[in-house]
Amino acid sequence: MKNRIKLFGIILIITILMVTCDNNNGEIHSHSYSDWIIEVAATCTTKEIQIQICSCGDEKSREIGVPLGHDLGWFFIPGYEKNICKRNNCGFIDEIKFTLKINDTGPGGGKIFYIADGQDGRSFGFTFYQNVNDTTGIIAYYLEHAPIDQGSSLTWASLGYSSIDIANTKEDIGTGKMNTALILATDKNAPAAKVCNDYINNEINDWFLPSIYELYELYKQKGASGEFSLGHYWSSSQNDNDITNAIVEGFHGINVGGSSEKTEQFYVRAIRAF
Ligand SMILES: [Zn+2]
Ligand SMILES: [Zn+2]
Repeated sequence: MKNRIKLFGIILIITILMVTCDNNNGEIHSHSYSDWIIEVAATCTTKEIQIQICSCGDEKSREIGVPLGHDLGWFFIPGYEKNICKRNNCGFIDEIKFTLKINDTGPGGGKIFYIADGQDGRSFGFTFYQNVNDTTGIIAYYLEHAPIDQGSSLTWASLGYSSIDIANTKEDIGTGKMNTALILATDKNAPAAKVCNDYINNEINDWFLPSIYELYELYKQKGASGEFSLGHYWSSSQNDNDITNAIVEGFHGINVGGSSEKTEQFYVRAIRAF
C-alpha cells in the first residue's frame, strides 16, 4: 500500500512537470501566454498565422481567417495582355493574351520570329537570363530580331582571345543575353557580341547575340520574317568541345549548328527577348 502511494506521488510529479516548464533560473512555472499577435499576415493563398508567447519562450500558433484571394487586373504590355494579381510578390497569372504574331513588327522595330505561346509543342514562356549573375531569370514569351544585320564579316573573338575559354555559355532559348554578357566580361571588344550589345533601335538597347537554339529559330523563320544573307551567322554559344570554336548557323540551308574557328568572319544579327 505504501508503495502504491509512492508510485502515485511520482506520477503526480511527472504530470506537473509536463504541464510546466523550467525558466532560465531553473525554477518551475506555469505558462502564462500573451494575447494572440500576428506572426505572418494572410496572403492571396494562405491564412493569417497568429502566435501567443510565454515569458519562457514557449509559443502557441494558430491559423485564422481566410486567404485574401487574388486581386486581379489586366496589364497591357507590348506583345501581350496579362490578367495578373496586383499584390506585391504574388506573381499569379490568370491569363495571357498574345497580341503579336510571327513576322509582326516588335517593340524594338524588328520582326517577331518566336512566340512561346504553348502552341505547336512550344513551352508556355521560357526562362530568360539577363546577365552573368542571373541564376533565376525572368519569364519571356517572344524573340524579336533586328531589322538589319549588325555586321557581315565579324569575328567571334578579339585578336588574341580566340583560345580563351568563355566558360558556361549555353545553347537553349533564353540564354543568348547571358552568353553575350559572359563573352564581354572576358573579351570586352569581342566583335560579334559587342555590336549586338551596343545596338539600339526604337530607343531599345537590350539586344544580344543569339544562342544557337535562338539562332536556329531565326533560321527556321528566315523566309517569313525578313531579309537574311545566304551565309553563316554567329551564335553566342561557344563550342565547349573545342574552345577555339563557336557555333554557327548556315543560312544557306545546309549547315545546321556547325562549329567554326572564333577567328572566322561571319554575319551577325542581334535579337531581343521580352
Ligand atoms: Zn512558460
Ligand atoms: Zn495574388
